[in-house]
This record gives sequence, C-alpha cells and structure tokens, in this order.
Amino acid sequence: MLKGKTAVITGSTSGIGLGMAQAFADAGINIVMNGFGKPEEIEVLRKEIEGRGVKAHYVGADMTKPEQIKAMIDEAVAVMGGVDIVVNNAGIQFVSPVDEFPPEKWDAIIGINLSAGFHVVRAAVPVMKARGWGRVINIASAHALVASPYKSAYVAAKHGVLGFTKSVALEVAQNNITCNAICPGYVWTALVEGQVKDTAKARGISEDEVIKNVLLAAQWTKKFVTVEQVAGTALFLCSDIAQNITGAAIPIDGGWTAA
Ligand code: NAD
Repeated sequence: MLKGKTAVITGSTSGIGLGMAQAFADAGINIVMNGFGKPEEIEVLRKEIEGRGVKAHYVGADMTKPEQIKAMIDEAVAVMGGVDIVVNNAGIQFVSPVDEFPPEKWDAIIGINLSAGFHVVRAAVPVMKARGWGRVINIASAHALVASPYKSAYVAAKHGVLGFTKSVALEVAQNNITCNAICPGYVWTALVEGQVKDTAKARGISEDEVIKNVLLAAQWTKKFVTVEQVAGTALFLCSDIAQNITGAAIPIDGGWTAA
C-alpha cells in the first residue's frame, strides 16, 4: 500500500533520518533525502537507497532557511510527481546551563528542531490535500514530554513540536492526512555521541558516568533505542491501519516517561 509513494525526510544523511530512509525504501517508498554532509558521501548514501529499488533524490536545503524549505518541497513534487509523506527529523542539540546558553544556539535549535517542521508542513499539506492522502511524522523526543537540565532550547523546541503536531492533526483530520509525533528516548547516533562529551563537561563527570548515570538512568530497559525501532514505528504510522492515530505523541523510550 505504501509502494510508489514519496517521502521527504529531513536530516536523512545520518542517524535516525538515514535509517528511516532505508526502511522506507525497503517498503517501496521513493525517498527525497535532505541533510548536510560531504557531497560524495551523500551520493554514496543516495545510490545505496536507490539500490533498494526506489527513486532517491537529494536536496541540500538548510532547515534554518524557510525559502529553501519551500523550494525543497517544490523540487520533490517536480522530481517525484508528488509528496505523500513528510518526516520532520532534522535536529541539533546544544547542552549548557541556561544563563550561559548562547542566544545564537537557542535560535538555531528552535529554527531547525521546531520552525523547519512548520515550513515543511505549510508547503506539503496543500500537495497532500490535492492527493487525498498524507502522513506527517514529527520526530520529537522524550524531551517533548519531560525535561532535563541544561537542554532548555531543545526541550522548549520539542515541547513545541508536540503542540504543533496536535494542532495540525485537527486541521487536516478530514483530509485523510494524519500528523503524529514520535518521542524517542536515547537512540545511539552521532547526535548522542556528541552529547556525551558535552554533558560530561557541563556536569564535570566522566563520559562513562554520563552514559550510565545520565543517559540510561531514565531508560528503564537500560538499553539505547535503535534507529530500526524508530523507523519501524514511523512506517507503522504510514500504514492504513494507523489512519485513526492522529495528534498522538508516541514514546519509544524504554519506560522513561512512564515513571
Ligand atoms: P544526527 O545528528 O545523526 O542527524 C541529524 C540530521 O539533521 C543530519 O542529517 C544533519 O545533517 C541534519 N541537519 C542538521 N542541521 C540541519 C540543517 N540546518 N538543515 C538540514 N539538515 C540539518 O541526529 P539524530 O540522532 O539522527 O537525530 C534526528 C532527530 O531525532 C532529531 O530531531 C533529534 O532531536 C531526534 N532525536 C534523537 C534522539 C537520539 O537519542 N539520537 C532522541 C530523541 C530524538
């Protein structure tokens, strides 16, 4: 049922976004990739996805630039003939006490993690309405439901993503379009790897202690979430069986936000 549909996945040159692009391709979904990286390395990833039997196109739009986001959706429509699924996944993190938090980092986190999703949805919803079907998946975080210290911008952005998700879900409910947020706990990706270093510095503890006592402290399974688990949940949200799941926040967090 998903074969031949087109998904735009922001931030799909690494981590969760790349894993989703690969899993979606395996389900027969054409992929519009986005994200930063070395052109030659991105081309290797694009070809690998194409090798899974779908069309794969890359657009290097910067998620801090609304006009580039609009152009990305227009290009996706021009190249693929339409857009059926958007996954707002691009994201960055910065860890610092609030009184030392650089204002430009605040703006970048709000821009990429929250506002970019608005610009994507704003451009893609008319296309989905015209096609009579659509899926919006916002990769939020457990930090959309609960806070941690030193992550004021990230927590604010991710809480904002949930509010945005709910509002859009109501607006498009009768257009056969769903809008949901996935809220992963700690997934082992480059983003988390960077956080280990920064959190160790901010808290004055070792990197091993950050992993054991900070990151996995809240995750009751004591296991990192996998990229495949997030990708599989996103695919489920794209399926027909999930048609009545909308405006939801779906935690994949080893029990973190249940406690
Ligand atoms: P990652 O660093 O591996 O990937 C981030 C992606 O976003 C990359 O492709 C990067 O190039 C892209 N990106 C960054 N800035 C961009 C910009 N201005 N324009 C376009 N693309 C840009 O990180 P990840 O862990 O895969 O994170 C993906 C999403 O999942 C983020 O929204 C993150 O907040 C969320 N998340 C991650 C975890 C985790 O533990 N890794 C947990 C919960 C939520």
